[in-house]
Amino acid sequence: MVIPENNLLCKVIDGKKVLAASYSQIDTFVQCPYKWYKTYVEGHRSTEKHEATSYGTVIHQTMEYFFKNGCRPSYEDMSKAFNYYADIEKIPFDSVKSQIESMQHAARLIRWIVGLFEKDAAGNYKKVWSDLTPMEKVIRGSRPAGVEEDFVLPYKLPKPLTLDGVTYDKVHIIGSVDWRGEYKTKDRTAMYTIDWKSGRKLFDKDKLLHNLQHPIYAFYIYRKYKVLPDMCSYFFTRMLDNQNVKVDKEKVERSVKELNDILLDMYDFETNKIDSYQAHVWNDAKQGYKYETRYLTGRQPACLEPRPKPLCFWCDFSTHKQGTCRYSSDWDESKRKNKKD
Ligand code: SF4
Repeated sequence: MVIPENNLLCKVIDGKKVLAASYSQIDTFVQCPYKWYKTYVEGHRSTEKHEATSYGTVIHQTMEYFFKNGCRPSYEDMSKAFNYYADIEKIPFDSVKSQIESMQHAARLIRWIVGLFEKDAAGNYKKVWSDLTPMEKVIRGSRPAGVEEDFVLPYKLPKPLTLDGVTYDKVHIIGSVDWRGEYKTKDRTAMYTIDWKSGRKLFDKDKLLHNLQHPIYAFYIYRKYKVLPDMCSYFFTRMLDNQNVKVDKEKVERSVKELNDILLDMYDFETNKIDSYQAHVWNDAKQGYKYETRYLTGRQPACLEPRPKPLCFWCDFSTHKQGTCRYSSDWDESKRKNKKD
């Protein structure tokens, strides 16, 4: 396979061109390899803003402001910070309803985080320790040792990749840990990591089990601090709810295997491993969308596998946007009532 010159597979880090991938790039591949191919190999990276990512950016910036200012900003300070970042970001809300909901969610998040650290005139926390949830105890009881802590993690490829005559034996995974807290016990320092999520739903069981975001953070933390985090949490800022992942040695081994399998497919431009995909199509008889096996024109590398689903609606290449993906599902929001999705 010929790799277009304008591919986005490499970055210059410390003056050297290296193979690089962010967690979001890896996640794009997991969601739909063909979308990854169009974005990072063909170089059609989207410049269009989406509500989900823009709103998430503003929430991250607002939380960063709180923790980088010693957990002292008041409700008014935080509201001003949120409005300031939102003004710059110009979040493209999908609808007025979504905008109103998102503003309510942000206000509730701000009330919650400010309330967690609020003190009375005598200097005591207004919210007593025994009333806190386990997650709140982690946040208030730890020292925020890292806030939006950037990292570059060299990771050995399961199989070297040759691009443009240069052979790479590792990929540099680039990321940022949203929040890393440290808590000193009698004999050691316990570590926690949190990733702020701004989606409207908690992860399902499968996503929670296989999501590689916290394992990748844990690889970095282990490399830098020589310990694995005691607990890793996805904190859903719209619901003020969290899901935890324990990244112990066993989980690390499983995650390394999962990541290696992904990288093998992602950077395999030569082996024609697939000849079919699961199309997401309307079925008249069932009056709903179904997955059906369809055949590709000849065998192709795994990185070209399309994985159409309702999410195509938000993909830049879908029939609803640029129309450059011939595998796109034509599902749209009006079909949401259909439970068969
Ligand atoms: S439209 Fe759907 S199938 Fe096509 S690239 Fe996007 S997510 Fe993949």
